[in-house]
Amino acid sequence: MASLKEMRNGNRLRLLRALHLAGEADRAELARATGLSRATVSGLVGEAIARGHVVERHPERPASGGRRGRPGVLRLDPRGGVVAGVDLGHTHVHVVLADLRAEVVGERRVALAADAAPDVALDAAAALVLAVARSAGVEPERLLGVGMAVARPLDGETGRVHTAAPASRWAGVAPGEAMTRRLGVPVRPLNDGNLALLGEHVRGAARGARDVVYVKLSEGVGGGLLLDGALYAGARGVAGELGHVTVAPGGRICRCGNRGCLETVASASALARSLAPTHGDALTLPRLLELLDGGDVVVERGLRDVGRHVARALAPLCLALDVELVVVGGELGAASRRLLDAVRAELRKCATSGSVAVRPGQLGDRAEALGGVALALDQEDWLRDAGLIALERPDPVAAGRGSPRALGAGIG
Ligand SMILES: [Zn+2]
Repeated sequence: MASLKEMRNGNRLRLLRALHLAGEADRAELARATGLSRATVSGLVGEAIARGHVVERHPERPASGGRRGRPGVLRLDPRGGVVAGVDLGHTHVHVVLADLRAEVVGERRVALAADAAPDVALDAAAALVLAVARSAGVEPERLLGVGMAVARPLDGETGRVHTAAPASRWAGVAPGEAMTRRLGVPVRPLNDGNLALLGEHVRGAARGARDVVYVKLSEGVGGGLLLDGALYAGARGVAGELGHVTVAPGGRICRCGNRGCLETVASASALARSLAPTHGDALTLPRLLELLDGGDVVVERGLRDVGRHVARALAPLCLALDVELVVVGGELGAASRRLLDAVRAELRKCATSGSVAVRPGQLGDRAEALGGVALALDQEDWLRDAGLIALERPDPVAAGRGSPRALGAGIG
């Protein structure tokens, strides 16, 4: 039998849901919509107003002197709770704070030393979450949870960075638990490629698609898989990690220990290395992007080669999984039309993978953090525990096939 507390919690959610569906309602309308008694509704509404989950507006009295004390009109306060999306990269932390409708209320990105120890990086990430909340005027108690992108291979079961990641100070670290200790709220970590894909799926280039491969071309090469509308993490949580697919047999030794991985030919540093004869050996990613902007033909040639390598890694995956869309994200991926053309041309050479659409990422370097927001809002139990509900926007695309809700089912 449900306890009194559970019943009350259930009633509260019924009331909030009814209010969300109605947009605005008074207490009598809420009683009718929920089937709860007027007294119960009044009690719950009073409590919700006190907690800051619901706001009340008193319509002005008609000038003709209508009846006194017209009932207040109630609506949900989307800022009754907020969630944070955190992107913990190798050299940056990016935080997006969003309300219960996934509207962004604050955002900031800071640089991180490339060799920062895990504790230092996690401290910086937690501090940034609180700083963004402060500047958005949100009390820290309103923070319900965090979805966090981690640029390291995470074990889906334990949430720890794979110990197979050789020579990494992050091996064995549990970034989600470590952030929960710092912020005092649940934190759900996920590989950055997967979260970037979730971001693009919920509000970017992959909206409405059900079967998608995402490739992230940046300092490193990452990726993610969306199958049948849900993120697919695989048995060890690294599905879609295209960076270590062999594309150049006999090529360079990769940091993973294998030879000729995609990352050895398609990351920013690999591209910089291949351009050393013409551009010297100190090409950084920002400089590469500048040269590309300036129409540097050698850089464009390099990016066409990158595109061909990427397609070589993608083709068997597209064929085997029958995906409809490839999204190429990351700073390099979204920057070059030539690169995308090369991916398309190479995919076309394979019989059926030729019909796969290839699009650049739309969210740029915000994809991971926005994916974190979507992941956090998908955790119904976090919201329920706070007596809240997620407010889905009546967006026909997001509400259609592959809604954010469907995604959560696949990640768990
Ligand atoms: Zn490798």
